Amino acid sequence: MRIALIAHDKKKEDIIDFANRYKDTLMQHELYGTGTTGKLITEKVGLTVSRFLSGPLGGDQQIGAKLAQGEMDMIIFLRDPLTVQPHEPDISALLRLCDVHCVPLATNLGTAEVLMRSLRNRE
Ligand code: PGA
Repeated sequence: MRIALIAHDKKKEDIIDFANRYKDTLMQHELYGTGTTGKLITEKVGLTVSRFLSGPLGGDQQIGAKLAQGEMDMIIFLRDPLTVQPHEPDISALLRLCDVHCVPLATNLGTAEVLMRSLRNRE
């Protein structure tokens, strides 16, 4: 599966911890990420992540474009709902595309863990 990983700044620690806990599962898939999230997961967890631009520079939109072309199968997007994001329109567009194309999307750790467990069960 092609899985995109994105986390807002206040959720970066969470996504690193998450990627560590599900490293065995994630390493069996093709991973993508926005610039900073992808870099952190590569450096701190040791997973191979193909990186797009940083979110505020268009990374969310790049992932959306791949998704629209049928080239993305799952999105883990740990959002910080308490901080205003300058690229909120891009984020909303990406979430909308997931609904349009029925691509599974987790916006918090609870759902992300359910998705990982479903991947494990398929192995
Ligand atoms: P980042 O982007 O991983 O480059 O910080 C995430 C985002 O803000 O959408």
